[in-house]
Amino acid sequence: MPELPEVETIKNGLAKHILGKRVRDVSFDWPKSFPNDPAQVNKYLVGATINRVRRRAKVLIVDLDTNYSLVIHLKMTGQLVYRHHSIAFGGGHPTDSLVGDLPDRSTRVTIDFGAGRLYFNDQRKFGWVRLLPTPEVDEIDFFKKVGPEPLDQTLSVKDFIDRVRRRKGTSIKAAILDQSVIAGVGNIYADESLHYAKIHPASLVGDLADKQLSKLLEGIRHSLTVAIESGGSTDRNYVDAEGNRGSYLKYARVFRREGQPCPVCGTTIEKIRVAGRGTHVCPKCQRH
Ligand SMILES: [Zn+2]
Repeated sequence: MPELPEVETIKNGLAKHILGKRVRDVSFDWPKSFPNDPAQVNKYLVGATINRVRRRAKVLIVDLDTNYSLVIHLKMTGQLVYRHHSIAFGGGHPTDSLVGDLPDRSTRVTIDFGAGRLYFNDQRKFGWVRLLPTPEVDEIDFFKKVGPEPLDQTLSVKDFIDRVRRRKGTSIKAAILDQSVIAGVGNIYADESLHYAKIHPASLVGDLADKQLSKLLEGIRHSLTVAIESGGSTDRNYVDAEGNRGSYLKYARVFRREGQPCPVCGTTIEKIRVAGRGTHVCPKCQRH
């Protein structure tokens, strides 16, 4: 699944190409990928103009001037591809569909702007696109449950600490991977931020001081920001909205660096298992 920085990068790339465009036509081949009432689609999507593209956690939201929004969840194998003459970009799961002729067998939804088309491709059909009234977007279950955005400056250190402390019986890694504690932190950024804060991922939340948790929030913000700036990061091979492979892993401190020296102290990085996930630690910087 793409992590927060990949989705942020897709959001920025999409905005560049579709803002202000008017939807001419919509087609889809798989009702589960686009489970909307056709009458609503004709009324509120066809003919609508794209007003805004935004992100919440790992979900994209495209606001229309009809006061409806498209909510897009890429899940495991979803991708968004925009094409217009020589302009071509795609983001999401890396398959040949990012560069090949479209629509193809993985295309679930096509949004035709007359000048340009946006394709939602999804091989395994776990992802989805939903059209709903903009004021109802925040009310869908997923958004009601998801925690605050880590990069939102209105999230205070105290709020963060309070939220994490509600999970005091679990490991700190499990706590920050929990999307209801904080939005959008996946395996890469959990490992990176825990190394930044010199916290062992298996430490119990109840054993950590406020100062350590404060440093951890700083680490989450730092690693996400670096990833967004470097074009979206990427676990395995997510490509960004321009079709470039993200480069964050070049800057990773510990993630997928087992057997290599810690950039801080030179100790060999180890791979262990915490919270059911492959976890990368420096045994010296992150004592347990
Ligand atoms: Zn170290």
